[in-house]
Amino acid sequence: MTTINFENTAVAFKVRSKRELGRAFLMFKLISRPGLVKLGNSVIGMMARIGLPVNWIVKPTVYAQFCGGETINECAPVVEKLATGQVRSILDYSVEGSESDVEIEKALQETLKAIDFAGKNENIPFAVFKPTAFIKSRALEILSQGEEKADEESKKEGAKFRERVLKMCTKAAGYNLSILIDAEDSWYQNFIDQVVYEMQVKFNKEKAIVFNTYQMYRWDRLDLLKKDVERARKEKYFIGVKFVRGAYMERERARAMEKNYMDPIQKDKESTDKDYNSALEYSLENIDITSIFNGTHNEFSSKLMAEKMLTLGLSASDERCWFSQLYGMSDNISFNLALAGFNVAKYVPYGPVKHVLPYLTRRAEENTSVKGQTGRELKLITAERRRRKKEK
Ligand SMILES: Cc1cc2nc3c(=O)[nH]c(=O)nc-3n(C[C@H](O)[C@H](O)[C@H](O)COP(=O)(O)OP(=O)(O)OC[C@H]3O[C@@H](n4cnc5c(N)ncnc54)[C@H](O)[C@@H]3O)c2cc1C
Repeated sequence: MTTINFENTAVAFKVRSKRELGRAFLMFKLISRPGLVKLGNSVIGMMARIGLPVNWIVKPTVYAQFCGGETINECAPVVEKLATGQVRSILDYSVEGSESDVEIEKALQETLKAIDFAGKNENIPFAVFKPTAFIKSRALEILSQGEEKADEESKKEGAKFRERVLKMCTKAAGYNLSILIDAEDSWYQNFIDQVVYEMQVKFNKEKAIVFNTYQMYRWDRLDLLKKDVERARKEKYFIGVKFVRGAYMERERARAMEKNYMDPIQKDKESTDKDYNSALEYSLENIDITSIFNGTHNEFSSKLMAEKMLTLGLSASDERCWFSQLYGMSDNISFNLALAGFNVAKYVPYGPVKHVLPYLTRRAEENTSVKGQTGRELKLITAERRRRKKEK
């Protein structure tokens, strides 16, 4: 069995200076107060909407904690720094919900640049994109209800989306670089799943280049995963599977209630955890055709995969198995897994402050609402600060 110790704070924060640790402490302390987070989010959101400058408050605080920089070049030192602890990076251009062809084209050009940068940098093992940045939301929703019955306008938008996704996957494949396609709200997901499947058939002939994302807080995803893996086996292609629990639970539940359809989310956290862990185990049992990307801050799910890999006789550094956490969070998992020889890559979001605000709002709210996460970060940072003081 492995000897991974997620409590080793010297390893976890090896690449963090005293100043950075102090800032992280302050950030987590602030976002541990739900009232403050709510107030901060609405004030900053409003300022951004009416065109007041927000960079001066956001950039040195939450942005510095959770983002790599405004441009790819600004992220380069972050990538290098993480690599000194054997942790690799995934540059995630954090723009979402583009609603005009001009915005979409901008996002596409930026993502293609990020793919080029990744393709030439051994410390960036994946490219990534968020599908809602590449299609108008109305069309995506309509197409997800059934492509055949969609109106002509939506079908046209769907064809443009296919073309853009094809462009990104083709560029990534040219570098033999894998590409992750993030998961979105359930009412957008069917069409995304269809297009990702088409890309997997096209690009995954020799290895998993294209990865789809499964949100295991949905009660139908474990079955879908099994069907997808069986289909890949039958149709003879490799399948890349990225697992997350899911980021949009509150609005999923609220919409299901409002529109009176069955809630797509599991009944409780335990059910989400159970399906998440089963998905990891199932994929490892099918590792001959599957590549796995375990995107979580959950220590149990991270350990479970690491231990099962070794039990199955895989090496820790098997190139089909990856662990990932978000930049600025759960460094204790990332750096301790990397030290034990496992493949780890952190999602490093980047982009102009204004574009990254929805992402930052989610991080702040998640760290407030997720039971224990902020407390855990604070405890680890405090332990490391004490340890450094004693060492002097
Ligand atoms: C590398 C990486 C990539 C990501 N990419 C995506 C993405 O593409 N799409 C996306 O949606 N999210 C994405 N996320 C966010 C992710 O979905 C989770 O919101 C976040 O990671 C918290 O889950 P956890 O497994 O880390 O931690 P945990 O603390 O173990 O789990 C918290 C999660 O459990 C679920 N949960 C909590 N309470 C309940 C309940 N009562 N009933 C049912 N389920 C519950 C929710 O999903 C919640 O976010 C990503 C996260 C990472 C680390």
